[in-house]
Amino acid sequence: MINLSNFSSIFIANWKLNGNLDFIKEYYQKLLTNPNNCNIICSPVIYLNLLQTNEKNLFFGAQDVSVYNQGAYTGEVSAEMLQEKKTNFCLVGHSERRQYFQENNEIIKLKITNLINKNIVPVICVGETMEEKEKKITKSVLLRQLEEGLPDTSNYENTLIAYEPIWAIGTGYTPSLQDIQEVHEYIKKIDKKFNNFRVLYGGSVKSTNSRDINDLKSVDGCLIGGSSLKVEEFNKIIS
Ligand code: PEP
Repeated sequence: MINLSNFSSIFIANWKLNGNLDFIKEYYQKLLTNPNNCNIICSPVIYLNLLQTNEKNLFFGAQDVSVYNQGAYTGEVSAEMLQEKKTNFCLVGHSERRQYFQENNEIIKLKITNLINKNIVPVICVGETMEEKEKKITKSVLLRQLEEGLPDTSNYENTLIAYEPIWAIGTGYTPSLQDIQEVHEYIKKIDKKFNNFRVLYGGSVKSTNSRDINDLKSVDGCLIGGSSLKVEEFNKIIS
């Protein structure tokens, strides 16, 4: 498993269901990695092989994994298969998977367990809806997602947490810097166990706000969706 403590910040590009061979070729030519950071690209799983290089500090991640390890589960990809493709990271419980594919905390916990068993770092995504924010129950929502979603085997060395307010994903809106700082601090203080976890922020990160967000003391990097599809923009974010 990758040693996360080697990196000052962690930046993850989540391409979602985007990209094709031409896109990848051009992206690769133009991508400028930052040697101080852990730079991760989560492409659609079929492209993982194409993205393998020996370039320093550029790692690859999947966007999902099966709860099953093998068997009659058409369309699924197991943690072992990802491991064979030298995948180092995998998103788990992204809000789009929770919303469109009915993923709950129980499923997320199984997926994280499978990944850790195969030395792949799970990136658990947690976040509140706008309604929950307005009701001021963000912290209890996050607490539940983390307590129910993380297996006992998770720790700061093998798991990353991404705080992604659902209302900020793909909308252009972000919480205030103060709110991000407060929520990240809260996550790290939930109990002793979470103290050293790396917590990334995700939700409408772009080159014009990434520095301010990443400069916050409790932010250990960013998870970037839409802006990661424009390589020039992603270069600016990770630079
Ligand atoms: C995401 O999908 O994880 C994400 C953060 O998206 P965006 O950056 O487009 O808000």
